[in-house]
Amino acid sequence: MTALTLSGIAKSFGPTRVLEGIDLHVPEHSLTAVLGPSGCGKTTLLRLIAGFADPDHGTITFGDRVVVGDGRPVPARRRRVGYVPQEGALFPHRTVGANITFGLPRRARRADRRLHELLDLVGLDRGLAARYPHELSGGQQQRVALARALAPEPSVVLLDEPFSSLDAGLREGTGRAVAAALQASGATAVLVTHDQAEALSLADQVAVMRDGRLIQLDTPRGVYTRPHDVDVARFVGDAVLLPARIRDGRAECALGVLPVRGGDSGRSAQVLVRPEQIRLHRVPAGGVPARVDEVSYYGHDAAVRLTVLPDGPKMTARVPGDELPTPGTTVHAVVDGEALAFPSEAEAAGSP
Ligand code: ATP
Repeated sequence: MTALTLSGIAKSFGPTRVLEGIDLHVPEHSLTAVLGPSGCGKTTLLRLIAGFADPDHGTITFGDRVVVGDGRPVPARRRRVGYVPQEGALFPHRTVGANITFGLPRRARRADRRLHELLDLVGLDRGLAARYPHELSGGQQQRVALARALAPEPSVVLLDEPFSSLDAGLREGTGRAVAAALQASGATAVLVTHDQAEALSLADQVAVMRDGRLIQLDTPRGVYTRPHDVDVARFVGDAVLLPARIRDGRAECALGVLPVRGGDSGRSAQVLVRPEQIRLHRVPAGGVPARVDEVSYYGHDAAVRLTVLPDGPKMTARVPGDELPTPGTTVHAVVDGEALAFPSEAEAAGSP
């Protein structure tokens, strides 16, 4: 079985440095999501792993096999990589069955057993094998693309934003089915996405990238609860960020005096509170008074936009859907759990 290891990977296109100093270990049988904004180098990283392009520096190993870094790179076709692109992976004039078995040796192509195994694995009805791609939904097409990538039992599976062309409802279900199929197949997989919910919900570990660098490699819970910096915090979820002063393990900020993790005593800082940590009470309960400006109801919960009184910062709280405050009224905002301290904006920008 194959773990994937990248070390010291750098890549430029002409004068433009696209990737720099990337170290990444993907344990065998696991799914790593590479998460980052558009243009940060995610696709380039995937293409280097697949062998569609070569890095300028660094090594890539599949298990104990060096594919880049030791003499000439192993060509793409000999890396045993399965690749699932955004869309358009399927041959339109071949049936689903023929698409899935396309990469198999001729004899195996005619055997229904492997085809059925693969259809079962990705959660598609066996009866779909005779259809053509245009007779499937977008989500079904992406499952077929995964089945085709898994057919030759690749050592590594790479998925480049495979759900981005699907609408929201389909995306979630397809994502779960694909993650389950990857797990059942035992594949070592890398999923590129700019969708934080997808990364957090599907992956075993999340690699957060920015400007060609890997900023944080952690579990989904780790990147959400212990983000490396304010930008990661904002990227992986909604964040309330408030200027604060740290004193004796507590942060003094617009939401009161909060227990805090991180930050040096006596220093100015900014603290992160997640919207779901803010509880709203009708009566004073130790929190700070705030005016309810707007309420957006989502069923399971609601986003409540607040202004800390008298004219403090604005922020959003996420509250259960059955506890809706009325716009225009005053509530008392209490923070549940710890805030997380980061350097103040001035310090982060490097000024004294
Ligand atoms: P997106 O989410 O938009 O697909 P990404 O994070 O996958 O973005 P890449 O496609 O890896 O980003 O591109 C990273 C940077 O490298 C971009 O600035 C892009 O313009 C540049 N780039 C990518 N491929 C090439 C190439 N073949 N020649 C020149 N520049 C390139």
